[in-house]
Amino acid sequence: MQRDKGSSGFNARKGNRPPGLRGKEIGLYYRNLTRQRKKERGEDENPIEPKIHLGCKVSVPSGVLERVKEYMEEYNQTPAKENSDVDGQFKRQFRYLLSVNFEEFVAETKEENEDVSYTNPKLDEMLRQELEQRQQEDAARKRLQARQKLPTMRYANDIVQAVKDNQVILVVGSTGCGKTTQVPQILLDDAISRGCGSECRIICTQPRRISAITIAEWVSYERCESLGSSVGYQIRLESRKPRDRASITYCTTGVLLQQLQSDPLMHNLSVLILDEIHERSVETDLLMGLLKVILPHRPELKVILMSATVREQDFCDYFGNCPMFRIEGVMFPVRMLYLEDVLAVTNYEFGNSHDRRPKRCRPEQKMQHQAMIEPYLRRIRNSYDSRVLEKLRLPESEGCEDLDFIAHLVYYICENEPEGAILVFLPGYDKISQLYNLLQSPQSPKGQRWRDNLVVFPLHSLMQSTEQKAVFRHPPSGKRKVIISTMIAETSVTIDDVVYVINSGRTKSTNYDIETNIQTLEEVWVTKANTQQRKGRAGRVRPGICYNLFSRAREDLMEEIPTPEILRSKLESIILILKLLHIDDPYRFLQTLINAPNPEAIRIGVNLLMRIEALDSAGILTPLGMHLAKLPIDPQMGKMILMSALFCCLDPVTSAAAALSFKSPFYAPLGKESRVDEIKRKMARNMRSDHLLVHNTIQAYRESRHMHAERDFCYKNFLSSTTLNQLEGMKNQFSELLYNYKFLTSSNCKDSASNTNSSKIPLLRAIIGAGLYPNMAHLRKSRQIRNRVRAIHTMATDDGRRVNFHPSSVNSGESGFDSSYFVYYQRQKSSNLYLLDSTMVFPMALIIFGDGVEAGVTQNTPYLCVAKTYYFKCNPETADVVLELRRHLGKLLLKKAMYPAPIEENGYERQLIKAIELLLSLDERLGEDYISSDEIDDI
Ligand code: ADP
Ligand code: MG
Repeated sequence: MQRDKGSSGFNARKGNRPPGLRGKEIGLYYRNLTRQRKKERGEDENPIEPKIHLGCKVSVPSGVLERVKEYMEEYNQTPAKENSDVDGQFKRQFRYLLSVNFEEFVAETKEENEDVSYTNPKLDEMLRQELEQRQQEDAARKRLQARQKLPTMRYANDIVQAVKDNQVILVVGSTGCGKTTQVPQILLDDAISRGCGSECRIICTQPRRISAITIAEWVSYERCESLGSSVGYQIRLESRKPRDRASITYCTTGVLLQQLQSDPLMHNLSVLILDEIHERSVETDLLMGLLKVILPHRPELKVILMSATVREQDFCDYFGNCPMFRIEGVMFPVRMLYLEDVLAVTNYEFGNSHDRRPKRCRPEQKMQHQAMIEPYLRRIRNSYDSRVLEKLRLPESEGCEDLDFIAHLVYYICENEPEGAILVFLPGYDKISQLYNLLQSPQSPKGQRWRDNLVVFPLHSLMQSTEQKAVFRHPPSGKRKVIISTMIAETSVTIDDVVYVINSGRTKSTNYDIETNIQTLEEVWVTKANTQQRKGRAGRVRPGICYNLFSRAREDLMEEIPTPEILRSKLESIILILKLLHIDDPYRFLQTLINAPNPEAIRIGVNLLMRIEALDSAGILTPLGMHLAKLPIDPQMGKMILMSALFCCLDPVTSAAAALSFKSPFYAPLGKESRVDEIKRKMARNMRSDHLLVHNTIQAYRESRHMHAERDFCYKNFLSSTTLNQLEGMKNQFSELLYNYKFLTSSNCKDSASNTNSSKIPLLRAIIGAGLYPNMAHLRKSRQIRNRVRAIHTMATDDGRRVNFHPSSVNSGESGFDSSYFVYYQRQKSSNLYLLDSTMVFPMALIIFGDGVEAGVTQNTPYLCVAKTYYFKCNPETADVVLELRRHLGKLLLKKAMYPAPIEENGYERQLIKAIELLLSLDERLGEDYISSDEIDDI
């Protein structure tokens, strides 16, 4: 061990360098350290000076300007009465929202509900008899017997009593002990058999849509009823509601938050169950905060908080030391194996994988891995074989980098361990489907041998509920069930016959960096608490084994518990929800949560909402803001689809919004990335837009479906038909919402009246820009490199940070853009800062739809600027007309928000839209003039 000695001697002198680094790695380590320190001191490596830099000229030819003026005059002839008379329902709602503060709002609803009584003795008697009768039936007795076996049922009487004596109780129990399925039934059956069924209405919230549905189905089954009788579910835009009284509704937390807008004190409920609060989702944290405000006003409302065993004391403390029930489940011992143990028994060789390139990881990743593993290897070198130690050294041995390894482990279990289902935890959909395919169509002889002995189920939140039911069934004899799941199987879904858990240790997690204002969804290591839950899944029927695909050294580095989601999220949607609930001061309210978010994050959220005009400069909700708050998507996307309705380009823009809210329909198999990029570029048809690319793709998919060739189409183009169908579904949901809010005359997103402008590309860019604004970037230079595959870009976002197009963006390989301005939705920080998605927009779109647009003069040149960020040369005549147009547009949008209605095809309003269309269409024709030669240097 010569090397060890040497390096530790060196370390003693140098102090802080991780051991085990060699050669070039040492240099890289210090380079990164210097960068890190610079960053900490606030010195950006490539600062871009904020100074007035006059961009291209946007003056409009006088003939066109005249035409624009004419349109505006015609628009101005709108009869005055059209703008005033009607007292729209929305306007009334909106006025009410602003005029009433939270206290008043609550007081009013209290008054309204004072005399409401749900008591109905006749119904009570009927319900009681019906329940008694049903309990006599054979099938029901059998199912009740099965239920009685669950630990929760042993506490039934205690729970009923505790709920009677307390307003809030906390039920804690290991997963699978029957909390979610039994607690609501215990309370319902108690109420019915006491003859007060009519007063009982229970809501139990679930963090995911899929669990709301499957649990409601299962509970109906347990009660020998059909779904929608005493048990139902409600999720966004989909429901099977149960009868009104004496019922249990499983709903998503989002749905409950929405219901609070009309019934803030939950007068129509008798029991609220908040389930899975240990997950610390934004919604449950918010609901707990709201409950503290609501409960004093509703003394008869009962609340049950349910949690797995993770930091349960925090909840107990938050609710004034409320009574806590611990439900002890039967748990068989579970043996924990770590990566070193797994490597020792399986003999897997890395780097021999079929059909995939050897993994290459980033140098800093490799270094971090070394810094962790080398000292550990020294500690365990006497206990493990040297081949195991060598494999531990490979960064790809841990986590789910090498799915072949996981497949190999599955086969190992099949060969060596007695029967029992295998539950594999992977971070997300992509890895799940890769492993699924690997097990279903194996390349290795071993895999082919085992294939027919396995029944494999993927389990993730995007699955259809029908597919999901099969997961619970026992497999045919002689076959082994393998479930590949996201963290959904960690607590919210319990599969009984699991004996083996394979824990990759990886999960997807949102993260929010206040400093760069970037929210990301990243694959990260799970926490120790997650591993404990996952382990528990293996010991439900008999002693089990948990195979952790990370070393003990890795586990030592893991966090104890996950950071609450609200501390790693953007807050704008939350702030809007609060405003709808008449909670005006987000700073004050969010401070009362179990973990208060950083005030700076709140400020960033408020600021964005102001810039997109959802809040006015005093922080008060605008009519537009109220619409955005009601749409179940990000405010920026909400604005985008609202504008697309008014500007009659619904179909393409909803495609963009759907993909941004969900994901791209393309997938890139390892090693095929450049082929996929090529396909994308072809489909983008030179539009320089990742967002329009999605729409082109959806259109092509529709055509292929028309010709019954969609399978082939998807296969050839690396498209997921599941995602494409889901995107279509979302588009229809958006259209339906906009139709319900009266912005459209049809709920069909392909309706011709909603799409009269859908082929006007400059307008589409502008509307996408109007939604994504203020996320802008300016490209200063683009240069194609010789092989014509890649291009080099010099670009910065409006906060002055240097960015690049992400390699998966269609713009990344392009140069020679007609405009040097872009809008984007997401930035991502990895080795560089990247725009994950982007659309080229013309300056006029930013000028018409941006904020802070002003005229001025600098260096003797008149200009128009957007948000004091981008300055465009512009003659005063054009500036005057454009500024007037903006004033009119502002008023029109306000009117539309107050009196939701589409723009009439031949009405006065249409003239204003025509003026805007005309200005935007110039961009296409004048394109080249916009790029002064010093800005784009295209070889
Ligand atoms: P907890 O909420 O305490 O984690 P649940 O109430 O969700 O537990 O589950 C209790 C039991 O109900 C599980 O162990 C499982 O046997 C059964 N179960 C729940 N949902 C289903 C389902 N959809 N299909 C079959 N069994 C189910
Ligand atoms: Mg549960």
